[in-house]
Amino acid sequence: MDFKINFSGTGHKYTKEEVDVVVKAMNDADPLTQGRYRDEFETAFCRYNGNRFAFSLCNATAALEITAQLCLFKKDDEIIAPSHTFTSSVYPFVKNGAKVVWADIDLNTRVITLENIKKCVTKNTKAIVVVHLYGFIIPEISQIADFAKQNNILLIEDVAQAMGTQMNKKKAGNFGDFAIFSFHSHKNITTLGEGGILAVNDKKYADIIPMLRHNGHCSFDYERAVYWKPAMGNVDMAMLDGENLMPNNYCLGEVECALGTKLIERLDEMNEFKRKRAIKFIDELSNFKDIVFHRIDDDRHNYHLLVAYIKAAKRDELMKKLVYEKAIKCVVQYCPLNRYPLYQKLGFGKANCPNSDEFFDNMISFPFQYWMSDEDFTYMLKATKEAASEVGLN
Ligand SMILES: *Cc1c(COP(=O)(O)O)cnc(C)c1O
Repeated sequence: MDFKINFSGTGHKYTKEEVDVVVKAMNDADPLTQGRYRDEFETAFCRYNGNRFAFSLCNATAALEITAQLCLFKKDDEIIAPSHTFTSSVYPFVKNGAKVVWADIDLNTRVITLENIKKCVTKNTKAIVVVHLYGFIIPEISQIADFAKQNNILLIEDVAQAMGTQMNKKKAGNFGDFAIFSFHSHKNITTLGEGGILAVNDKKYADIIPMLRHNGHCSFDYERAVYWKPAMGNVDMAMLDGENLMPNNYCLGEVECALGTKLIERLDEMNEFKRKRAIKFIDELSNFKDIVFHRIDDDRHNYHLLVAYIKAAKRDELMKKLVYEKAIKCVVQYCPLNRYPLYQKLGFGKANCPNSDEFFDNMISFPFQYWMSDEDFTYMLKATKEAASEVGLN
């Protein structure tokens, strides 16, 4: 189908300055991975986001994989996670030995709540994964962090969609033990399609993440007589609380890191622009009581995505109108993970998450890439009003 408005796979375009940064790094980075651009990116990230330690990685899923290793799951250990999220929020933990208990979201905010987390806690709960989904920082994130601490449970914040959002001046990714960020093609800023960060505040993790990231490379515990014998660095297992952890190679290249440093400068401006646009869309459609947006007009929300809950069992009708008649490529997102074959085969096919089901079964996600032109945005707004009237929404 030919769409007038595509659901683009690219969150934003690059400025001339950003292209120049890439070309410069292509030419002068030596080596092209694990060099000074990596260090600059991680420093710039920490300065922006307020974390003590940050490690660039090839993507956010790699950050979740390392986090899952650092959780040191034992037999019967459980994690609590929302079913309404992207798959890689969860499977790395299963891969590393955890069982999943699905927690429900709130129908209005579309994110996890403390009350729903509490319902899932057992004596085996080892970690809680919370997701600042759609670019909205979880309202109870402080309370969830306090609860986790009091109960000796690890807290992982999935900030893949919400970088730059904050609660009482504290940025998303500073509440838990681990925070992961994504610079995938779809995201708010993208380091050429792939990229991620794992941020931690505890030095015991920070000391070993470089080894887990880069093939277990570490220094020798003796002085080599000559630098070439043995060549390269030493390799070893990383040790945490007396346990040995296998290495990975999850490095991010220098060109991507150089670009990431540059893009952080523009993040607030892009978040602000998208939020203003989202609020305009929401307010212009506020006469339709059957279209329920989540309206947050401050920096708790960056509107990574623009989604609405459609009442009156009219979602599919509205969807067809928008797609086939208005040529706007809307989508339906975040199928509850327990409905996928992957999780069913793993034995996590059952969930008691009525809100997650209800939201997914009645939601629409509008195209909302940063680079959508004013003309296209105006068309989408007008066409959505028409479509809503035509299918009889109130
Ligand atoms: C995109 C995304 C991820 C994974 O990010 P990658 O960088 O593609 O690995 C994880 N969680 C959420 C919520 C995401 O949106």
